[in-house]
Amino acid sequence: MNYLYYLWDDFISLLFPRLCCGCGNHLMRNENLICTECFVVIPRTNFHLKNDNPVAQLLWGRCMIEKASAFSFYTRGSRIRNIIHNLKYRGIKDAGTELGRICSLSLLSSGFFEGIDAIIPVPLHPSKKRQRGFNQSDCISSGISEVTGLPVLTDSLVRMTKTGTQTRKSRYERWTNVEGIFRVTDQMLLRGRHILLVDDVITTGSTIESCANEILNIEETRVSVLVMAFASF
Ligand SMILES: [Zn+2]
Repeated sequence: MNYLYYLWDDFISLLFPRLCCGCGNHLMRNENLICTECFVVIPRTNFHLKNDNPVAQLLWGRCMIEKASAFSFYTRGSRIRNIIHNLKYRGIKDAGTELGRICSLSLLSSGFFEGIDAIIPVPLHPSKKRQRGFNQSDCISSGISEVTGLPVLTDSLVRMTKTGTQTRKSRYERWTNVEGIFRVTDQMLLRGRHILLVDDVITTGSTIESCANEILNIEETRVSVLVMAFASF
Protein backbone atom coordinates (compact mmCIF):
# COMPACT_ATOMS: atom_id res chain seq x y z
CA MET A 1 0.00 0.00 0.00
CA ASN A 2 2.78 2.36 1.03
CA TYR A 3 4.80 1.40 -2.02
CA LEU A 4 1.92 2.19 -4.34
CA TYR A 5 1.36 5.49 -2.58
CA TYR A 6 4.99 6.54 -3.05
CA LEU A 7 4.92 5.42 -6.67
CA TRP A 8 1.84 7.55 -7.26
CA ASP A 9 3.47 10.42 -5.34
CA ASP A 10 6.59 10.22 -7.52
CA PHE A 11 4.46 10.14 -10.65
CA ILE A 12 2.57 13.27 -9.58
CA SER A 13 5.76 15.13 -8.70
CA LEU A 14 7.13 14.25 -12.12
CA LEU A 15 4.15 15.98 -13.70
CA PHE A 16 3.95 18.78 -11.15
CA PRO A 17 7.37 19.21 -9.57
CA ARG A 18 7.32 20.61 -6.06
CA LEU A 19 10.04 23.24 -5.97
CA CYS A 20 11.47 25.19 -3.05
CA CYS A 21 10.31 28.84 -3.01
CA GLY A 22 13.74 29.96 -1.85
CA CYS A 23 16.22 28.12 -4.10
CA GLY A 24 14.11 26.41 -6.78
CA ASN A 25 15.44 22.92 -5.99
CA HIS A 26 13.13 19.91 -5.83
CA LEU A 27 11.55 19.42 -2.43
CA MET A 28 11.86 16.16 -0.52
CA ARG A 29 8.69 14.36 0.55
CA ASN A 30 8.90 15.71 4.10
CA GLU A 31 9.56 19.30 2.99
CA ASN A 32 6.90 21.92 2.40
CA LEU A 33 7.49 25.00 0.20
CA ILE A 34 10.87 25.86 1.76
CA CYS A 35 13.63 23.22 1.77
CA THR A 36 15.72 22.27 4.78
CA GLU A 37 18.83 23.75 3.21
CA CYS A 38 17.14 27.14 2.85
CA PHE A 39 15.91 26.93 6.44
CA VAL A 40 19.50 26.37 7.57
CA VAL A 41 21.42 28.75 5.32
CA ILE A 42 19.11 31.80 5.13
CA PRO A 43 21.28 34.36 6.97
CA ARG A 44 19.79 35.47 10.31
CA THR A 45 20.22 39.11 11.32
CA ASN A 46 20.09 38.24 15.03
CA PHE A 47 18.89 41.81 15.50
CA HIS A 48 16.61 40.62 18.33
CA LEU A 49 19.69 40.06 20.47
CA LYS A 50 20.60 43.77 20.42
CA ASN A 51 18.33 46.64 21.46
CA ASP A 52 20.12 49.18 19.26
CA ASN A 53 19.92 47.11 16.08
CA PRO A 54 19.50 48.66 12.58
CA VAL A 55 15.67 48.24 12.50
CA ALA A 56 15.33 49.90 15.92
CA GLN A 57 17.73 52.66 14.83
CA LEU A 58 15.75 53.26 11.64
CA LEU A 59 12.69 54.05 13.79
CA TRP A 60 14.45 56.12 16.44
CA GLY A 61 12.84 59.51 16.99
CA ARG A 62 9.91 58.55 14.74
CA CYS A 63 7.89 56.19 16.96
CA MET A 64 8.33 54.55 20.36
CA ILE A 65 9.13 50.90 19.76
CA GLU A 66 9.65 48.29 22.51
CA LYS A 67 11.50 45.66 20.46
CA ALA A 68 12.31 45.47 16.78
CA SER A 69 13.84 42.81 14.61
CA ALA A 70 14.18 41.47 11.09
CA PHE A 71 14.54 37.78 10.32
CA SER A 72 16.97 38.14 7.37
CA PHE A 73 18.52 40.56 4.88
CA TYR A 74 16.72 41.57 1.68
CA THR A 75 19.53 41.42 -0.83
CA ARG A 76 19.65 40.78 -4.57
CA GLY A 77 19.41 37.10 -5.43
CA SER A 78 18.91 36.08 -1.81
CA ARG A 79 16.71 33.13 -0.90
CA ILE A 80 14.50 35.27 1.32
CA ARG A 81 13.91 37.65 -1.60
CA ASN A 82 12.85 34.70 -3.77
CA ILE A 83 10.44 33.51 -1.08
CA ILE A 84 8.89 36.97 -0.72
CA HIS A 85 8.61 37.29 -4.53
CA ASN A 86 6.90 33.91 -4.77
CA LEU A 87 4.49 35.06 -2.09
CA LYS A 88 3.71 38.51 -3.46
CA TYR A 89 3.92 38.15 -7.21
CA ARG A 90 3.14 34.46 -7.79
CA GLY A 91 0.44 34.32 -5.15
CA ILE A 92 1.94 31.41 -3.19
CA LYS A 93 0.28 32.40 0.08
CA ASP A 94 1.48 29.31 1.95
CA ALA A 95 5.08 30.43 1.33
CA GLY A 96 4.32 33.42 3.57
CA THR A 97 2.86 31.22 6.28
CA GLU A 98 5.90 28.93 6.11
CA LEU A 99 8.22 31.94 6.28
CA GLY A 100 6.41 33.26 9.35
CA ARG A 101 6.69 29.83 10.95
CA ILE A 102 10.43 29.53 10.21
CA CYS A 103 11.10 33.04 11.48
CA SER A 104 9.27 32.57 14.76
CA LEU A 105 10.85 29.17 15.33
CA SER A 106 14.22 30.93 15.08
CA LEU A 107 13.22 33.66 17.56
CA LEU A 108 11.11 31.64 20.00
CA SER A 109 13.82 30.59 22.45
CA SER A 110 15.21 34.13 22.73
CA GLY A 111 12.04 35.34 24.46
CA PHE A 112 11.32 37.90 21.74
CA PHE A 113 7.59 37.13 21.85
CA GLU A 114 7.31 37.33 25.65
CA GLY A 115 4.98 40.07 26.84
CA ILE A 116 3.38 40.53 23.43
CA ASP A 117 -0.42 40.23 23.40
CA ALA A 118 -1.37 40.17 19.73
CA ILE A 119 -0.12 40.45 16.16
CA ILE A 120 -1.28 43.12 13.70
CA PRO A 121 -0.22 42.64 10.07
CA VAL A 122 0.63 45.92 8.30
CA PRO A 123 -2.40 46.55 6.06
CA LEU A 124 -1.93 46.73 2.33
CA HIS A 125 -3.31 49.65 0.36
CA PRO A 126 -6.89 48.66 -0.59
CA SER A 127 -6.26 49.01 -4.33
CA LYS A 128 -3.17 46.81 -4.08
CA LYS A 129 -5.04 44.25 -2.01
CA ARG A 130 -7.79 44.13 -4.65
CA GLN A 131 -5.18 43.64 -7.34
CA ARG A 132 -3.24 40.96 -5.43
CA GLY A 133 -6.23 39.33 -3.81
CA PHE A 134 -4.57 39.06 -0.41
CA ASN A 135 -2.22 40.81 1.99
CA GLN A 136 1.16 39.10 2.27
CA SER A 137 1.57 40.28 5.87
CA ASP A 138 -1.60 38.35 6.84
CA CYS A 139 -0.01 35.14 5.52
CA ILE A 140 3.25 35.75 7.41
CA SER A 141 1.33 36.61 10.58
CA SER A 142 -0.66 33.39 10.48
CA GLY A 143 2.62 31.43 10.44
CA ILE A 144 3.90 33.40 13.43
CA SER A 145 0.60 32.79 15.20
CA GLU A 146 0.83 29.02 14.64
CA VAL A 147 4.18 28.87 16.43
CA THR A 148 3.63 31.45 19.17
CA GLY A 149 -0.10 31.01 19.83
CA LEU A 150 -0.56 34.80 19.63
CA PRO A 151 -3.86 35.97 18.09
CA VAL A 152 -3.81 37.90 14.80
CA LEU A 153 -6.00 41.02 14.75
CA THR A 154 -6.44 41.38 11.00
CA ASP A 155 -9.10 44.06 10.72
CA SER A 156 -8.25 46.25 13.69
CA LEU A 157 -5.90 48.47 11.69
CA VAL A 158 -6.98 49.61 8.22
CA ARG A 159 -5.35 51.62 5.48
CA MET A 160 -7.59 54.35 4.12
CA THR A 161 -7.90 54.98 0.42
CA LYS A 162 -6.51 58.23 -0.95
CA THR A 163 -9.88 59.44 -2.21
CA GLY A 164 -11.69 58.64 1.01
CA THR A 165 -9.34 60.47 3.32
CA GLN A 166 -7.78 63.27 1.34
CA THR A 167 -10.63 65.27 -0.06
CA ARG A 168 -10.63 67.78 2.78
CA LYS A 169 -6.89 68.12 3.13
CA SER A 170 -4.66 70.93 2.01
CA ARG A 171 -2.29 70.41 -0.88
CA TYR A 172 0.67 70.04 1.50
CA GLU A 173 -1.14 67.47 3.65
CA ARG A 174 -2.09 65.53 0.57
CA TRP A 175 1.54 65.47 -0.51
CA THR A 176 2.68 64.10 2.85
CA ASN A 177 -0.02 61.45 2.83
CA VAL A 178 0.60 59.85 -0.54
CA GLU A 179 1.11 56.43 1.00
CA GLY A 180 -2.29 56.59 2.66
CA ILE A 181 -3.03 56.74 6.35
CA PHE A 182 -3.95 54.16 8.92
CA ARG A 183 -6.89 53.98 11.27
CA VAL A 184 -7.62 51.75 14.24
CA THR A 185 -11.14 50.34 13.94
CA ASP A 186 -11.67 49.23 17.54
CA GLN A 187 -9.69 51.29 20.06
CA MET A 188 -11.00 49.36 23.09
CA LEU A 189 -9.68 46.11 21.67
CA LEU A 190 -6.12 47.45 21.58
CA ARG A 191 -6.14 49.46 24.79
CA GLY A 192 -3.48 48.32 27.25
CA ARG A 193 -2.10 45.77 24.78
CA HIS A 194 1.41 45.15 23.53
CA ILE A 195 1.07 44.80 19.75
CA LEU A 196 3.53 43.13 17.37
CA LEU A 197 3.45 44.83 13.97
CA VAL A 198 4.38 42.40 11.19
CA ASP A 199 5.48 43.19 7.63
CA ASP A 200 7.41 41.48 4.86
CA VAL A 201 10.18 44.00 4.16
CA ILE A 202 11.30 47.20 5.89
CA THR A 203 13.09 49.80 3.74
CA THR A 204 12.50 53.40 4.83
CA GLY A 205 10.35 52.46 7.83
CA SER A 206 7.71 55.07 6.98
CA THR A 207 4.85 52.55 6.77
CA ILE A 208 5.75 50.97 10.10
CA GLU A 209 6.14 54.45 11.60
CA SER A 210 2.61 55.48 10.54
CA CYS A 211 1.08 52.23 11.81
CA ALA A 212 2.93 52.35 15.13
CA ASN A 213 2.00 55.96 15.81
CA GLU A 214 -1.66 55.27 15.05
CA ILE A 215 -1.69 52.41 17.56
CA LEU A 216 0.34 54.37 20.12
CA ASN A 217 -2.34 57.09 20.13
CA ILE A 218 -4.43 54.67 22.16
CA GLU A 219 -3.84 54.74 25.90
CA GLU A 220 -1.37 52.27 27.43
CA THR A 221 -0.49 50.54 24.19
CA ARG A 222 2.98 49.35 23.32
CA VAL A 223 4.32 48.37 19.92
CA SER A 224 7.04 45.99 18.77
CA VAL A 225 8.07 45.29 15.18
CA LEU A 226 9.00 42.12 13.33
CA VAL A 227 9.72 42.06 9.60
CA MET A 228 10.90 39.17 7.49
CA ALA A 229 13.67 41.09 5.75
CA PHE A 230 15.70 44.24 6.24
CA ALA A 231 16.57 46.16 3.08
CA SER A 232 19.36 48.65 3.55
CA PHE A 233 19.31 51.50 1.05
ZN1 LIG B 1 15.50 25.87 -0.88
